[in-house]
This record gives sequence, C-alpha cells and structure tokens, in this order.
Amino acid sequence: MDFLLNEEQRSVQKLAYDFAQKEIAPSAREHDEQGTMNWEALKKMGPLGLLGGPIPEEYGGSGFDYISFGIICEELERAETAFRVIQSVHVGLNSLTLLQWGTEEQKQKYLVPQARGEKLATFGLTEPGAGSDAGNVATTARKDGDSYILNGSKLWISLADIADHFLVFASLDRSKKHHGMAAFILERGMDGLSTGTIHGKLGVRAGNTGEIVMQDVRVPKENMVGEQGEGFAVAMSALDWGRFTVATGAVGVAQACLDASVKYANERQAFGRPIGKFQLVEQMIAKMVAGIETSRLLCYRVGWMKNYGMKTTRETSLAKWQACNVAFESANDAIEVHGAYGYSSEYPAERYLRNSRGAVIYEGTREVHTVLQGEYALGYRHDKPYRCPPPPAPGYERKDMYDATSALHYPFAFPVQAEEGMTPKPRN
Ligand SMILES: Cc1cc2nc3c(=O)[nH]c(=O)nc-3n(C[C@H](O)[C@H](O)[C@H](O)COP(=O)(O)OP(=O)(O)OC[C@H]3O[C@@H](n4cnc5c(N)ncnc54)[C@H](O)[C@@H]3O)c2cc1C
Repeated sequence: MDFLLNEEQRSVQKLAYDFAQKEIAPSAREHDEQGTMNWEALKKMGPLGLLGGPIPEEYGGSGFDYISFGIICEELERAETAFRVIQSVHVGLNSLTLLQWGTEEQKQKYLVPQARGEKLATFGLTEPGAGSDAGNVATTARKDGDSYILNGSKLWISLADIADHFLVFASLDRSKKHHGMAAFILERGMDGLSTGTIHGKLGVRAGNTGEIVMQDVRVPKENMVGEQGEGFAVAMSALDWGRFTVATGAVGVAQACLDASVKYANERQAFGRPIGKFQLVEQMIAKMVAGIETSRLLCYRVGWMKNYGMKTTRETSLAKWQACNVAFESANDAIEVHGAYGYSSEYPAERYLRNSRGAVIYEGTREVHTVLQGEYALGYRHDKPYRCPPPPAPGYERKDMYDATSALHYPFAFPVQAEEGMTPKPRN
C-alpha cells in the first residue's frame, strides 16, 4: 500500500492550489456578498485544463487520474465552494457520465467542447416534487418520429441559468417508475427550453443555482444517453462521480476551517495567553484534524478504486456522508474558535458554514446515505454492474474486482461475508 502522491498528483495539487489561492480566494468574500460569479477566474480554468481534468486527452481533457481530480476539487473548495460545484456538475455529473455512457457522436459533439472549457454543462435530476425519490420524476418524454418531446421542470440545478448543455432525466412511462426513465442531452437555444435563477440561498451565493423549464422541447433521438429505461442507472452512475467531487470538496472546506482556526487560535489572546493553549479550543482543532484525515483517506480510496475502473457506489456514499458532516461540524467549530468574529463576514468561517451546509443535502442527504450504509451492512442492498462500466483513469487498466463479491476481494474489504448462495436483496 502506497500513501504517497505520485509526481503527477503533486503537480496537479500545486496547479490547483496556486490557481485557487491566486485567482479565487482573494475575491471570494466579495463575490459571496454580492452573489456574483467570478467569471474572470472561471475563464482561466479551461486553458489550464481544470474543466476537463479526468477526461482523456483524445476528448479534449487533461487525462489526469481520479485522485488528481479529487485533489482539484479539494483545493478549489478550500478557496470557495462555488468553484468545486463547477467540478461537480460540469466535470463529474455531466462530462464523466458522457464519457461512461455516451456514443462516439455525443462525445465528439458535447464532451470535447466541455472538456476544453468552451461549453459549460450541468445535470438536471431534481424536480419540485422529487429529490431523494429521484425515480419519481414527473418530467415526461414522448417519442415522436425521430425525436422525443420533453415536458416538465427541474429545480435546484447548479449552473442552470448559465450552462450551455444539460443532461436531464425524464420518464417515458411513469407507471414503470425508475425503470421507465431515460437521459437526454439538451442544448441552450432549443425551442421550449428556458432557465431561471433561485435567489435567497443560504450558501453557494457566488454560484448559480436555478430551474430548467421544458415546454414541448423536441430532442433528437441521437441525444438520448444510454437506452430507453436506463435513465435511472445513468443518473445513479453520474452520482458516483458527483458524490466523489462533493466529498473531496468537503475535505477542502474542512481544511480551510482548520487553517483559519489554527491561525486565529495562535493570534488571539485571552487570560494572558493564546486561546490555542486552552484545552477546549485544542479539542475543537483536534476534532477537525481527525475528521479531515479520515475523510481524506476515504476519498483517496475512492479515487484509487476509480482509477482501476471499479464501481464505487458504497465507498463513494460513505466518503460523501462522512466528509460533508465533517466539513459542516468543522465550520461550526471554526466559528466557535473565532468567537464573535466568527459570526462576522470579516472572517471566512461563517461563509464556510453556509457553504458546507448545502453539501449535507445535495447528492444524497445525510439521511439517505445513512440508510444506504445501513442497508449495505445488513445485506439489503447489493450493487450490480452498470451496462457501461466506469472508465478507468487514462493509463490505468481495469481491475475486474467488481462482481457480486467485489467488496470481499479488494484490500479495503467490507467485513461482512454473504452466506454461500445467499443473494442480498434491496428492501423493495
Ligand atoms: C445548493 C444546491 C444545489 C443543487 N444542485 C443540484 C443539481 O445540480 N442537480 C440536481 O439534480 N439537483 C441538485 N440539487 C438538489 C438536491 O440534490 C436535492 O435537494 C436533494 O437530493 C434532496 O432532495 P429534496 O430537496 O427534494 O429533499 P427531500 O427528498 O424532499 O427530503 C426532505 C427530507 O426528507 C428526508 N428523506 C427523504 N427520503 C428519505 C428516506 N428514504 N429516508 C430517510 N429520510 C428521507 C431527507 O433526508 C430530508 O431530510 C441541489 C440542491 C442544493 C441545495
């Protein structure tokens, strides 16, 4: 087992850290207060290869491995959550999903300009009436000749009002629930497609979140990703990418909480000594360290598995759940360490708290991940392979550890052995 980052991973870490600290961090507070995107910084990311990090070079990306991709998310969110959100929806949920499921034509038409940073992409699953219950989407898709006609709306969609491309999920037959869904690529400018922005959010104020409305949008059949009835599987596989970015980003914001708290605890004096000398303050710092290090290890394990093309649903859910809790608790403690100053936007802790709160909800609420982990442990849930398995990182060979007993075979084995012949089943 090797815990060292390799040369490429270290150079990506330096690239992402330098970019985030120079281009994002100095104006993060201002953009958060004004509710504006930092377009200047965003425009520089494409040429640096940061909008297609893990996408192979043949499709316009940088060809980084998935640990490097996680490190990019970590360093970006250490500066400002809105920039990690771009990694989550543009790179993770959309581009990597096209890499996994898309046809060659879809990859050339949509993935290549996305990976180069020429087009911005997002992912629309959530609806006004369906979030955690994602198999219950009310958006419909009706076949009409060589096209599908989409009607419905998506809500709480990151980048909705600024993206060029949308990966949306619709039902072909609502009676079949999640077995009746399909995924489609939509483009801004299609007749009947409109978007809007949500105002008054608690956090991620420097990022766009909004709605997508579809009124008789005609989508060519070539824009279906996967097959009819495969939409739910495409969406869940997308979340395996997206949740990884959310988890690694959460490590970054927790690290930012620690950085700020250590600095302040060494500077602030009370009762004639630095507050860091008080054990109850030390305890909060120590808790952050433990949370950050355990979450980072969970994240790097997922990155390692992804490098070899393994399905990571259970491991990614665990990393996302833990890292997001750690980030939120670290931000709450960072405010405490800062006392009243923590309650002011003069210091970053209150922004970290507001920004880390959303990640406990999106890409699976903490309750949903708690239930998932319980179900895996109890044998009620067992992952099946996707028809299109996740692509290994460029330069890596798939390790075929994914089968009905996958978790028992790789070195981080889940310690529950299914009885001979027993097939654990989902609860319903
Ligand atoms: C800032 C932000 C950005 C987002 N970006 C996107 C995006 O880009 N694309 C996208 O598609 N979506 C996005 N979302 C939506 C997000 O994924 C959903 O909000 C999330 O999945 C929860 O769905 P919901 O809000 O409908 O809550 P609900 O599903 O209605 O849940 C409400 C409560 O009930 C609980 N609950 C629900 N089901 C269960 C269960 N089975 N067991 C136990 N408890 C349960 C939940 O944990 C929660 O506490 C975003 C949300 C936010 C806040």
